[in-house]
Amino acid sequence: MSDYILVLDEGTTSTRAMLFGSDGVFVASAQKELTQHYPQAGWVEHDAGEIWDKTLECALDVISKAGGAAAIAAIGITNQRETVVAWDTSTGEPLTRAVVWQDRRTEPFCAELRVAGKEAEVQARTGLLLDPYFSGTKMRWMLDNVPAVKAAAEAGTLAFGTVESWLVYKLTAGAKHISDASNASRTLLMGLEDAQFSEDLCALFGVPFETLPQVTDMSGALAETDASLFGRAIPITGLVGAQQAATIGQACLEPGQTKATYGTGAFVLTNQGTALPTSDNRLLGTVLMQIDGSRTYAIEGSVFVAGSLVQWLRDSLGIVDVASQTEELARSIASSGGVTIVPALSGLGAPHWRADARGVISGLSFASGKAELARAALEAMAHQTHDLAEAFAADGTRWETLRIDGGMAANDWMAQDLADMLGVPVERPAFVETTALGAAMLAAAGVGLYADLASAAAKMRGSLKRFEPEMDEATRVERLERWRKALAAA
Ligand code: ADP
Repeated sequence: MSDYILVLDEGTTSTRAMLFGSDGVFVASAQKELTQHYPQAGWVEHDAGEIWDKTLECALDVISKAGGAAAIAAIGITNQRETVVAWDTSTGEPLTRAVVWQDRRTEPFCAELRVAGKEAEVQARTGLLLDPYFSGTKMRWMLDNVPAVKAAAEAGTLAFGTVESWLVYKLTAGAKHISDASNASRTLLMGLEDAQFSEDLCALFGVPFETLPQVTDMSGALAETDASLFGRAIPITGLVGAQQAATIGQACLEPGQTKATYGTGAFVLTNQGTALPTSDNRLLGTVLMQIDGSRTYAIEGSVFVAGSLVQWLRDSLGIVDVASQTEELARSIASSGGVTIVPALSGLGAPHWRADARGVISGLSFASGKAELARAALEAMAHQTHDLAEAFAADGTRWETLRIDGGMAANDWMAQDLADMLGVPVERPAFVETTALGAAMLAAAGVGLYADLASAAAKMRGSLKRFEPEMDEATRVERLERWRKALAAA
């Protein structure tokens, strides 16, 4: 019986294949690390050939665990967003290394466009800001700096795509050059209103329109694998960028529903419904879902430093041996004794957007020790999330509950502190791989195992743990006051 869903989960540091039952139960997986290339300060590259090879190896491994391709009903792909692959359609091979989302090399071009006064128009059309994070300026950089890319553009054989687009091209043996609307909405080249690449945005960023993929739905009969790869053609019925996948995996399918992922950084997305998202607080507007041509949007805010602060306590200060020890340290004392950390180690993201800010530890006394620092580090997560909640509220979106996931969400103390400081219940699923689960839901609905995404989510989402707000108001106010003072110093 073919009722397994194969999810290809293309992360920044690894590629994975995961097998889910049609009921959402995780069955098996295979994983391979990806090589990170850092050719210069601020540059981050991947080898797109390696991404494809490792994806294929992981997929074959998991398909054999499932008992063969006949057991796979459909494939869903979720991926690191914004990363750009350039390949030649005459050979099907990459022309240069992929430029990864974290790469900052296009800052001068972004600054040039900001100085030329282009940001307001770009934000209104795309929901994004002029930042090297997004794909469009990375494509332009390749055209300007990699002779093979320029030559392919002139020969009419250049194809650009984000990681899901590259993988679909390889999985279909070159038959399809497509990108789903959630990934396409991160390029700066797609208008949010019609979810199509725009000729004039392409002209602004200097990217030839014809090198871009066709923008598609995120669920449905999107493509089919070439029969030679797995022994039969398997339908690809879900395509989705990682943060949108986690939002869907957390079943945030109704307006106002919000998820926060606490990994290296923290990413918060709120379902905005069908109205075009706008922000006066430098939050991003993005496509959350597109199914049967109808779109749901999200507002997104990201914090640069979350779990990486705990990593810093572990690796640079040696305060803990493993990240989870922060929980017992935080619980061992009744308060941080006034110690406050502003984790601006690589600047501040939303809603402050101060690349020049640097970290602060305030309120130190002779009574401050490891426990106070660990507790202050965890408290900083609630403080940063609180500032995002205020920005979302100022843009008209109040959170009623917060659904959390990511490696750091395993910390019960932090989850309770989030509920306390935000004043809303916090929910955490027992199965925390919400990104892969979201792609599985889209693929399951897309192949017709469920009537629609809501039915897939209702059946496939597992059990939850809930944290209710308990903190007294005086403590909350005191916490926010010392956070604001420390933030001003940062
Ligand atoms: P990413 O997907 O960004 O690589 P993960 O979702 O795997 O990150 O989360 C890993 C991060 O979470 C690490 O930075 C680690 O320091 C932090 N982390 C993991 N477990 C805990 C914990 N129990 N308490 C606090 N931080 C944790």
